[in-house]
Order: sequence, then structure tokens, then C-alpha cells
Amino acid sequence: MSAPEAGSARSRAGQKCTVALTHPDRLYWPDAGVTKQGLADYYAAIWPRIAPFIVDRPLALLRCPEGIDGPRFFQKNGWKGMNAHIRTLDDPATGTAEHLIGIHDLDGLMGLVQSAVLEIHPWGAACRDWERPDQLVMDLDPGEGVAWERVIDAARDVGERLEASGLTPYVKTSGGKGLHVVAPLKPEADWETVKAFSRTLAQTMAADRPDRYIATITKAKRHGKILLDYLRNQRGATSVAPYSTRARAGAPVSMPLSWDELGQITGSAQFTVNNALTRLTALRADPWAAFHTARRPIQP
Ligand code: ATP
Ligand code: MN
Ligand code: MN
Repeated sequence: MSAPEAGSARSRAGQKCTVALTHPDRLYWPDAGVTKQGLADYYAAIWPRIAPFIVDRPLALLRCPEGIDGPRFFQKNGWKGMNAHIRTLDDPATGTAEHLIGIHDLDGLMGLVQSAVLEIHPWGAACRDWERPDQLVMDLDPGEGVAWERVIDAARDVGERLEASGLTPYVKTSGGKGLHVVAPLKPEADWETVKAFSRTLAQTMAADRPDRYIATITKAKRHGKILLDYLRNQRGATSVAPYSTRARAGAPVSMPLSWDELGQITGSAQFTVNNALTRLTALRADPWAAFHTARRPIQP
């Protein structure tokens, strides 16, 4: 009889998109009323901003074929029958032994939507130089009982210390519980150097304020403290992309913020697929506009 109802993304900014969506009315976030089509429309609108963070870099993907309440698969490797717009990448260190995942264009992103990818987690390095990260991420993970204001304080603390090291820090919600402070890097130092730098930063902060921070993942000691998770900065590690959706209640997104507005943010899941575009339209300037021109080398 008739073919399954197919939708497509309303792309903007002159981007062509040819990927047909099957089952566009499938609810991915039932509580927030966000469908597959809604996800495609969100990503099509956000494409110019998200592209530099997800194109041509290895990606780990959280796939939820039945939406956030169904089974979930965290995938770092290509799968059988993968959408043709999603590309496999060969890690130069392992060759063709392992097929990593990447996208090149808006069709690739729509391929991810069609494949029920609800979270996009890139590496901190681009494929043009796998061995030299172009960003540093400090992932702030509040333990139980930590007030949101303390997470904001911690982000500012990380930001000030990165600035003192000659880097330009940016802050975003994770869309979960914490905040991410991200510094764009000139891809000069290798993974070992960037990891050691971020470890020293975390350990110094934990030594200065042992009442507030810990730098090692020891669950028992986490209560009331913020884990400074520096391990996003090692080869093969990932963190959620700016503007990526999260497979959590309310359809939250990881939202880039300005340092000035950080004090008014009420929680990590404040921005969602349902309010993100209104926010971005209302903002006079992209708070991360200078991210890609603010790259500085890490001083070992
Ligand atoms: P929150 O603010 O709630 O901490 P987050 O995205 O920072 O949100 P974390 O648990 O701190 O969540 O970070 C986990 C990171 O580790 C993810 O961003 C992801 O890139 C990576 N990761 C590695 N393995 C997995 C996995 N199996 N499932 C989900 N994420 C994983
Ligand atoms: Mn985190
Ligand atoms: Mn973490």
C-alpha cells in the first residue's frame, strides 16, 4: 500500500538536506512532546553553530531507537546497515581494525537523527590531527547535596585559572547535572600534555579547596563535593557536543553560555529543544562566537 510517512528537515542557511526521515512522528521525548521531526527541525536550525563541533571528528553516539524510555546504545563504532550519510573513520593509530564514526555535512547530522541518535559526543580532536587536541574540557560533576551556586563558583574558578594560563575559557550547561568549561586550543600539544595539564589543574584546585573539590573518581568521597573530571582530555575520551540534545527527561540540550549570564542560570537542564531556538533568537550575540578564533597553545 502506501510507503511509511516520510518527513525531512527544514534546513536553513542554504544547506541542502536530502535525508528522508521515516516515522517522523515517533516521540523521542514523550514527556516534552519532542518527535523525530522535532529533533530534525532543531538540528537543521542549529546546524551552522553545531557544525564546527561535530563535523570531521570521531563521534560516540547515544542511540535510543524507541526514545528516552527505551533501550539505549552508546556506540563508538559503525554498525551494520548504518545510514549512508554517516561515515566510518579509520583511526590512524589502529588502521582499519576499528571503524570509528564521523559525519561530513548536514546530511550526516540528519542521518544521525534518522538513526535515533539522541546524544552526540565528539572527541576533543579533529580528524585533521588526531594526535593534537583542539579543545580542553573540564567536566564539573556535582556530588549529591551540592548547591547549584557552588557549581557556578567552580566553573568561574576553572575559568579564571585557565585564563591565567593564557587560554580563553567558555562555559556551557551539560544538559544533565553539571557544567563544562571548554578552552579552544591551537592543536600543538599532544594528548599526554593536555591530559597532564588538565590533571594538574584539577589536582591544584582540589588541594586549594578540599572542602569543595575532588579530582579523583572515588564515589565514597564525592558527597557534597564537585568532581573535577579531567579525564575527558585523553585520547579516545568524549564529552557531549555544544548544542547536542540529551536523552533525559525534558529534552535538555548542552547550551553555550556567556560568563555574564552564568549567575542567572538555574540549572544544567534549563535549556531544551523546546526553548533553545527562542533563546538563540533573543540573544544579541552568540556567546561562543569567538570560540574558533580564540585558540591558544597549551604551555606545558
Ligand atoms: P552531567 O552534567 O550530568 O555530568 P555529562 O555529559 O557531563 O553530564 P558525565 O557522566 O560527567 O556526563 O560524562 C560522561 C561522559 O563520558 C559523556 O559526556 C560521554 O562523552 C562519555 N561516556 C563514556 N562512556 C559513556 C557511556 N557508556 N554512556 C554515556 N556517556 C559515556
Ligand atoms: Mn559531567
Ligand atoms: Mn564526568
